[in-house]
Amino acid sequence: GGSVLTFGETMVALRGSGPLKLGGTMNVSIAGAESNVAIGLARLGHTVRWVGAVGDDEAGELVLRTLRAESVDVSGAWKDAGAPTGLILFEPRLPDLTRVHYYRAGSAGSRLTPDVLDRAFATAVPRVLHLTGITPALSPTARAASTHALRLAHDHGTLVCLDVNHRARLWAADQASAVLQDWMPYVDLLIASADELPLCLPPGSPTDTGAQARALLSAGVQEVTVKLGSAGATSYTRPFRPGAPAGSTSDTHSAEAPSDAQDAGGDALHQPAVAVRAVDAVGAGDAFVAGYLSALLDGEGVAGRLERGVTTGAFAVASPGDWEGAPTRAELNLLGAPPGTVVR
Ligand code: ATP
Repeated sequence: GGSVLTFGETMVALRGSGPLKLGGTMNVSIAGAESNVAIGLARLGHTVRWVGAVGDDEAGELVLRTLRAESVDVSGAWKDAGAPTGLILFEPRLPDLTRVHYYRAGSAGSRLTPDVLDRAFATAVPRVLHLTGITPALSPTARAASTHALRLAHDHGTLVCLDVNHRARLWAADQASAVLQDWMPYVDLLIASADELPLCLPPGSPTDTGAQARALLSAGVQEVTVKLGSAGATSYTRPFRPGAPAGSTSDTHSAEAPSDAQDAGGDALHQPAVAVRAVDAVGAGDAFVAGYLSALLDGEGVAGRLERGVTTGAFAVASPGDWEGAPTRAELNLLGAPPGTVVR
């Protein structure tokens, strides 16, 4: 099947319109990096499943109801009666600066355990597992669940996509780095900002992004994609060796070894961002991942994956909210329209 499995914590998100301490009204929605990716994929027509816990409360109902409405399979999600659904407050403080306040310590979503992943894989073996570096920061059991997911994916030939998504508010860089380094042998597709690559490497690694990406490729990652904000994104793949049989550069993973020889043209491919009027940058990274994985599931090479990633990333930047502006497949070509266009 063409399914994607993702897991993590999804919270209720309250978004104000100015300094939080002044009060006023807030918009009520949901937020979670992994569920943002799930919604992005579902909008593009893919089969996607999100597992995780919410509290047995109305906030949890909002999370599950929203995901269900977006055609994300939540049949593996559950309500934890022993803890509340987590909360995140977005405080737009300056036009280009939003502060985030978490109320998530001890939340239901942080109490994820490894058996959840056993159940998810027993229900259906996914083609792609997507996880982020946020989940292992939530609690020791959530960290164990994430590591267990990587092992299950490895054992079942599932392609692993990891978005580093380092959250300095949740844990120290050296703690994150220890976990990420342990995980690298299990990761097929690594997605990160340039400043997050060093976290995945041992101390004393190169300082140049390209050299860091190549070090990760040598360590077994099949593809390293670096998100560069308004500068777009660059993917690094192992150099194509002429004459080598297809797939010979991949390791033991049976699933979907990227066949990029034709568009690699070397081993780094850059895609500029799509110019849009930026309204809300939050969620661009998750939207990029959704577009990237969508094209991968469609069998596109690196160029096609980058192109769809910058497109869905631009939609996120051009729309308020983390995931609300995610395009359907039919909407993917809307971005090129001249200013003032009315689609009748
Ligand atoms: P976040 O954590 O805020 O979601 P991120 O750091 O994970 O962001 P970015 O690199 O900021 O991810 O954005 C992801 C992608 O979205 C970029 O690679 C780019 O294609 C697109 N994007 C980001 N900012 C802009 C922008 N100002 N204009 C157009 N596209 C953008």
